[in-house]
Amino acid sequence: RMNTDLGQHILKNPGVAQAIVDKAGLKQSDVVLEVGPGTGNLTVKILEKARKVIAVEMDPRMAAELTKRVQGKPEQNRLEILLGDVIKTELPYFDVCISNTPYQISSPLVFKLLALSPAPRTCVLMFQQEFAMRVVASPGDALYCRLSVNAQMWAKCTHIMKVGKNNFKPPPQVESSVIRIEPKNPRPPISYDEWDGLLRIVFVRKNRTISAGFKSSAVMALVERNYRTWCATNNVKLEGDDGEADMVGAGEGEDEEMEVDEDGMGGVKKVKIKTGKHSRSRVREKVKGLVETVLAETALGEKRAGKCDEADFLKLLYAFNQQGIHFS
Ligand code: SAM
Repeated sequence: RMNTDLGQHILKNPGVAQAIVDKAGLKQSDVVLEVGPGTGNLTVKILEKARKVIAVEMDPRMAAELTKRVQGKPEQNRLEILLGDVIKTELPYFDVCISNTPYQISSPLVFKLLALSPAPRTCVLMFQQEFAMRVVASPGDALYCRLSVNAQMWAKCTHIMKVGKNNFKPPPQVESSVIRIEPKNPRPPISYDEWDGLLRIVFVRKNRTISAGFKSSAVMALVERNYRTWCATNNVKLEGDDGEADMVGAGEGEDEEMEVDEDGMGGVKKVKIKTGKHSRSRVREKVKGLVETVLAETALGEKRAGKCDEADFLKLLYAFNQQGIHFS
């Protein structure tokens, strides 16, 4: 029985399975990570072209079926099945990732693959079509989002082919697409957390100006906390910081509500965050001033994140960092 909660839509068209494997450009020496092998329709084709497959499967029944499929065959020794959730699994080294991805984990999987170091040579991944289009979207496109900017910062992302729903059993609700994510080599010399930290702020509402994003008190509390840490580590005296006496409002470790776009696709939700020691103190005023300076000097304050390209975000991050403003 299929478990569609786990996104179990088996690829039944062998031509499509072969095309996916061919597009990965495998070498005989490659170790391939396959996410969610299911019954193994892609797995057996990958095993023909690569040295080894590491398959991460969450459903023990699927894992058992795949084990049976290769049992007693020479490729049995070249297949390693890791039982569990790929998002929670510490991934071993691999050269290439191939996945007919269960759609629930599309976003966390892409973010996980992008953060890997060393990065894989290439990833060929099937997603729901809309998700795939988000990854490859350009500034100004309706689907352009934090996911797009992140993916394209760390990798060259290309659409490979559309795959109709009738190629699966059972057919999913929507059409699918295969994309290639080819991590840039060498990796851009930017901190992943700094970059994503800035994008998380400006993409909470991508059609709002960047200045507006920095008007949120929770965002400013975070920026202030990071600024205090930066000053402490760099021996910069916080002028006008009279300590507790100067604090008005929230104190140490208090909760504040902040909007976050956890999946990187603009699905905003409110969460409570610990912003740490902060206040409407003079330090807050100082930080506000620094932020305003950066937004004015880069002339990006009135621009909307949805229209900014990678060069704009890089310029913004650089200017913030120059002022001691950090996002991680
Ligand atoms: N690769 C097979 C194919 O193309 O026919 C099956 C693809 S099916 C869309 C997704 C597979 O991922 C299922 O076998 C499902 O059990 C598995 N799966 C779902 N969530 C998972 C997770 N978090 N980690 C690992 N595997 C998962």
